[in-house]
Amino acid sequence: MAGVVRRPGRTSPAVRDTVPSVRPGGRRRARCYGAPMLIGAHVRAGKGLVPALEHGAEIGADAVQIFTQSPRMWKPSQYGGEILAAYRAAQAAHPSVRATFCHATYLINLASPDPDLAAKSRACLTANLATADGMGAGGLVLHIGSHRGSGLAAAVPAVAEALLSSLDEVDPPEDGCPVLLENAAGAGDTVGRSFEELAEVIEAAGDDERLGVCLDTQHLWASGVPFATVAEADALIARIGSTVGLGRLRCLHLNDSKVAFGANRDRHENLGDGTIGSDGLAALVGHPALADVPALLEVPGAGDGPRAEDVAAARAVVAAGVALRA
Ligand SMILES: [Zn+2]
Ligand SMILES: [Zn+2]
Repeated sequence: MAGVVRRPGRTSPAVRDTVPSVRPGGRRRARCYGAPMLIGAHVRAGKGLVPALEHGAEIGADAVQIFTQSPRMWKPSQYGGEILAAYRAAQAAHPSVRATFCHATYLINLASPDPDLAAKSRACLTANLATADGMGAGGLVLHIGSHRGSGLAAAVPAVAEALLSSLDEVDPPEDGCPVLLENAAGAGDTVGRSFEELAEVIEAAGDDERLGVCLDTQHLWASGVPFATVAEADALIARIGSTVGLGRLRCLHLNDSKVAFGANRDRHENLGDGTIGSDGLAALVGHPALADVPALLEVPGAGDGPRAEDVAAARAVVAAGVALRA
């Protein structure tokens, strides 16, 4: 089912809330209270999209995240309609993988004051979004970019206009792929280092329903936002609610951090081996407001990305977090 996060069918019909909720963007999504959080993993598409999905299934992931094209090259992906259709068919054939998310190219900088780079970035975002929507993804995660000293005030309207132009060009169907703005670790002049900044961008884009948010735990930690106790996590959830709105939060990037709190650098670590730690992550992911939000691992594993043991570690962190609040 394109663009829809399918919830696990493990709960009995008696406890299942089948009334679809209307998200602030107007997009309808079935909620299933009481189901465990979906644990996903970033998987590599070097051997193709379908092998990447199969790898996700092999390591026990409930969801996968895939780069829509080579993350450090401008060249668009060569995925034609048949390859995208084959991916959707493969996902249907792997019911344990309930959702696909895509991650956009790192080179995209919608906040760039350089007109050439800004134009290239728009074209690249459009190509990424067309592929992600063709794969039936539940979201295309995007780093907004850096204004390189030109100032947030000038960058925000330009970013909003670029987002809307790509969305209009691709024109995903009502339940199609939204663009999910990811919070930044705060290096340089990156836009989106706080939920207030993300909210500014969404507001400048007219609160468009095709925009959502991805929360990366490592970036948040590195940008100096505490969440590693229940009280701090509660405060963070309240802050998300009062800025972008919880309904916009479509996925988490669940990562520990190689760098210290507030270090403003993007360096992911395996869960439990970093400066946040398993207990700190548990305090956040156990929050009931996040039970419905898929958590995607972008951890190094042993050097090749998330492994089965990393997926298992994430499930243990979620269970510990839920128990913290029981
Ligand atoms: Zn990212
Ligand atoms: Zn990161």
